[in-house]
Amino acid sequence: MEERLFNTIYGRNLVGELKNIVQRPYLVVTMEDLWEKFRGEFDEDAHVHFVKTLEYDEIMRELEELGEFEAVIGLGGGQAVDYAKMAAWKTHRPLYQVPTSIATNAVFGHRAGIRFDSSVRYVGYVEPVAVYIDFDVIQKGPKALNRSGVCDVLCYHNAVYDWKYAWDRGKCESQWPYDESLAARSMEVYDRIVEAMDDIYELNEKGIRVLTEGLRWGGGAFHNAGWNPRHIEGTDHFLFYTLEYMTKKKFIHGQPVCLGIFTGSLMQDNDAEGMLRLIHRAGVDIRPEAMGITWEDVFAALKYEKEFLEKDGKWFTVANDFVVTDEFCERVKAMILEVYGEWPEK
Ligand SMILES: [Zn+2]
Repeated sequence: MEERLFNTIYGRNLVGELKNIVQRPYLVVTMEDLWEKFRGEFDEDAHVHFVKTLEYDEIMRELEELGEFEAVIGLGGGQAVDYAKMAAWKTHRPLYQVPTSIATNAVFGHRAGIRFDSSVRYVGYVEPVAVYIDFDVIQKGPKALNRSGVCDVLCYHNAVYDWKYAWDRGKCESQWPYDESLAARSMEVYDRIVEAMDDIYELNEKGIRVLTEGLRWGGGAFHNAGWNPRHIEGTDHFLFYTLEYMTKKKFIHGQPVCLGIFTGSLMQDNDAEGMLRLIHRAGVDIRPEAMGITWEDVFAALKYEKEFLEKDGKWFTVANDFVVTDEFCERVKAMILEVYGEWPEK
């Protein structure tokens, strides 16, 4: 399989160089609080748009009103880079992306996670001229947020198992037959992240590079495999989707996904204890209180997950067969508290 990944450049002072390389006039897509930090790096008359919505119809209407620009710069987290993709896609303008965190693989994927009447669909297609990873920007950012990016690679542990599990039971989708070499490739990328876990925790240059390269591979993997998500996503992300649907909360992607990695591998009987310790070592807090939810929310999501996935048309995983009992829920809680300790009372 040919692996085409986005052109990615590492260095420092990369934001400051943008004004020298992009076509003018340019549009900067970012968030209001970030602009305060970065405005000095751009021309005084730079054309800026603050992301307020990811609803498709609203984005299209806003783009009509934004006037003329020759290049698009995405500067920020998932929302800014996804909006920037849509702006570049709609206007056929070149795209330059500067993620200010490495908390997901969103910046390395072709499609944007856009809402249609509040439900997410991944649409569009755009390849940036370059993705710039600025060590200083990442290192000055919130550490827990950046560390949580490991979720989008650790999840291959579940995805690969779910794929084989469905295949062995004749439940695999016909367009995605199990592919041993593709599964092995995912696990190669996974192994590299695990080996570098201490550097990733430190967020030193090596750690940032290794984690980013893992996310970069994952961002391209969906397209490279013919829009096949089987080797990169399964029960890991599915608990997150269920939780998001049930609680309507905004999450830091890595927390509920890492919780799903643990509960999914417990359903799979696939080294759940080892995954829990690895997630803890990575510095990702998966206790519900750390996400602003309760144990009851987690238990309810675990119990509803199977029904939600069937309704939502998700691919077949161990979650479709697994019966979630009260006993299972208590085991999830006990194992997490054993490793993380009780949430401190205020
Ligand atoms: Zn993800």
